[in-house]
Amino acid sequence: MSAEILEGLRVVLVETSHPGNIGATARAMKVMGLQHLVLVNPRHFPHPEATALASGAEDILDRAQVRSDLTTALQGCHKVYGSSARDRRIHWPQLDAREAALDMVQELASGHCALVFGRERTGLSNEELDHCQMLVNIPTAELYHSLNLGQAVQVLAYELHMATLSIRADLPAYPSAAVRETPAPMEDMEGFYQHLEQVLRQSGFLQETRATRMMRRLRRLYDRARPSANEVHILRGVLTEIQRWAANSRQKGSG
Ligand code: SAH
Repeated sequence: MSAEILEGLRVVLVETSHPGNIGATARAMKVMGLQHLVLVNPRHFPHPEATALASGAEDILDRAQVRSDLTTALQGCHKVYGSSARDRRIHWPQLDAREAALDMVQELASGHCALVFGRERTGLSNEELDHCQMLVNIPTAELYHSLNLGQAVQVLAYELHMATLSIRADLPAYPSAAVRETPAPMEDMEGFYQHLEQVLRQSGFLQETRATRMMRRLRRLYDRARPSANEVHILRGVLTEIQRWAANSRQKGSG
């Protein structure tokens, strides 16, 4: 049951330096019933150290997909969770590991999700976190927040496993997913955000100095709404009409 629910979850490691951490991740995943590992630009992979630390979870390494950028790694996912040790100045919505696991297990009922882990030294950049609707934090002692990468994966994988056990009692579950349209995949949302930014720049609303912050706030707003693919299509239609209208009025103005 656990493995079935977690089938739609992708664990994504961004630019991992130490191949041992990739192996440890594979093992951490396998013992908790997680299957799908995606590596974005790993420094060394495949590597004997990764194989050694996987010990028993080599199948996860064999099936791991390597991608050159995060956007490609997230294709087809409708909700992305970014795991982070740091306090961020920008207020991303944030859950602790346990809350996030329950949320993921519920979201997995309506499609694929991704759980993204950052680099050993520097974690995830703000630009990478822009692709995540939710930040996940493993609560720690006050003075030191940063777990080893493989161990952070283990804690979250364990919480996911426990979350699948806890919802078993409620089955058949997911009433909210049954009545709700499936949220649009990430690539649709990214296309919308790029289009929105283009229109907001053309209209003069986005000023260079505040553009990044403003787009981040708008992403948070639309991410909260969880639009379906159809709704994103409508939003894109609105933007296209505004662009057409602006082009026509410019022509009239100059003619
Ligand atoms: N110095 C880095 C730490 C990176 S640790 C930083 O400040 O972000 C490597 C990765 O492990 C992180 O990017 C994150 O995905 C995960 N990780 C480590 N500690 C964590 C914690 N307390 N909560 C959530 N994720 C954590």
